[in-house]
Amino acid sequence: MLLPLYIYVKKRKKSLFEKSDLEHFKHEVEIYFSNRHPMVPLDYSIFKTSKEQATSDNMEEVMVIEDLVSQFIHMPYSLKTQPSVGKELLWATYEENSFVKKDKIPKDLSQRKELVYRRDLQTCKRCGQKLKPTDAYLGMIKKIEDGGTYHLENLVTFCVDCNRIVKADEPAKLASSLKIYDDLIHLSNRYS
Ligand SMILES: [Zn+2]
Repeated sequence: MLLPLYIYVKKRKKSLFEKSDLEHFKHEVEIYFSNRHPMVPLDYSIFKTSKEQATSDNMEEVMVIEDLVSQFIHMPYSLKTQPSVGKELLWATYEENSFVKKDKIPKDLSQRKELVYRRDLQTCKRCGQKLKPTDAYLGMIKKIEDGGTYHLENLVTFCVDCNRIVKADEPAKLASSLKIYDDLIHLSNRYS
């Protein structure tokens, strides 16, 4: 049976429009990652695969977002000892306070956090996101329970998502609660 013309035109228009939507979305995603998480090596082939495999248009976006978030979670990253800062920046009780007992926090933690943030050039050391002081998290290379200390070489600046990913035993489970997931949903909503 032939489709009435108006339905045919509507369908055709919609699919043409959606094709360019996915391209726009891809462009926005590339801009988002280069601005926000420049150190994440992304593979964008999911944009092509999703087109071939998705059973609905909404499915395309979901597949793309889940793939990108998964790449963000699983990108290779190893926790390494961080650079020292000049001794003139440290204080009399620095050394002593670096060794705190488990479950205790050094009194000068905010001072340490600020120095680490400056040393790390206000940037998440995992994904490269530029951070305001209030958005910066202090990560530990070696955990206290594994013999880690509060020396600056054992501390590192992370964004909210990287901080959670690095700490998690099963980071894949965090996917839909990460900020990056919300950001990508927000971007995709502009094209649906
Ligand atoms: Zn990060």
